[in-house]
Amino acid sequence: MSQLRKDPFGPGWVIISPERGIEPSDFGSVRSKAKTSPLSPGNEKLFGQERQALRPQHSSVGSPDWQIRVVDMPQALLSPKDFLVSEEGPFIAASSSGYQELIIEHPDARMTLENMPKEHLRQVIKIYRDRLAFLGSRPGIEHVQLSRNAGQVAGAHYDHPHANLLALPVKNRWLEEELETANDYYEKSHSCVFCDVIRAELKRKERLISHNKHFLAITPYASKTPFETWIFPAQHSSSFATLATNVIDDLADLMKAVLHSINSVLDYPPYNMVLHTLPNEANDRYHWHIELLPRLTRQAGFDWSTGFYVNPTPPEDAARFLKEALMMQGV
Ligand SMILES: [Zn+2]
Repeated sequence: MSQLRKDPFGPGWVIISPERGIEPSDFGSVRSKAKTSPLSPGNEKLFGQERQALRPQHSSVGSPDWQIRVVDMPQALLSPKDFLVSEEGPFIAASSSGYQELIIEHPDARMTLENMPKEHLRQVIKIYRDRLAFLGSRPGIEHVQLSRNAGQVAGAHYDHPHANLLALPVKNRWLEEELETANDYYEKSHSCVFCDVIRAELKRKERLISHNKHFLAITPYASKTPFETWIFPAQHSSSFATLATNVIDDLADLMKAVLHSINSVLDYPPYNMVLHTLPNEANDRYHWHIELLPRLTRQAGFDWSTGFYVNPTPPEDAARFLKEALMMQGV
């Protein structure tokens, strides 16, 4: 039976509608075919300035022996310049000020996050953290956004594991909604809504996919899309920029496990992975997290017109499938 569920982290509602059934995916699966892509070593000159890289000790900037490389996004939409706002009656415009970087996560185009050696993934996560901390502390930056797109349907520009990093002089609407909801909750309950949900999910277990000492993965109560999966730090933390190095191992383990199980259940779906974090500051009401959204359904007019998402897969069912896949892998 259908059920309306209020999103504990935002003002919206979703309709969980299992009688619609899991719609067959017509988006296919994402499998890396070629070892090389335009992002591969040897093409360094095609891209913008190198901002950071993991390289052997005596290697020089721009040479092709890198392991992870951060460059300015080619044809970036944003660039560092003054943020000048102009108003003409009801119309407001501003200069496209900000930063846009591309993190190339491995020299081999086939080496996805779940397949790369764990030590390499640890280094990728460290670079995510360091770039976010650096860009988040630039003057005038209000929002930092790390996102990964896998597969063309999910908006990926390259068939090569990479992440996009944006730093903007304006706030992000979705994060602001979460922050506002978290503030309201805090005023009433004097606690972080995310911490309270984490405690409840660990106790109830019906939407818990996996957890270790420092992180947990769940399918959220008001999942907007089938198999939506969130990863939270178990301890309260408002900014990914302050991620302690000694917990990165646990995050790498959980990311690998979750991606393997999504691939196993859904046959390598296209997906978006987005990080919701405050740029730098400590805040006792907001709790950073990673949202992983497999692209299995299209949004219809109903969703656009009402702001409701209709999700045919109850998150409790999705969690069960993903947990079973983990058990099969012996994780
Ligand atoms: Zn919290």
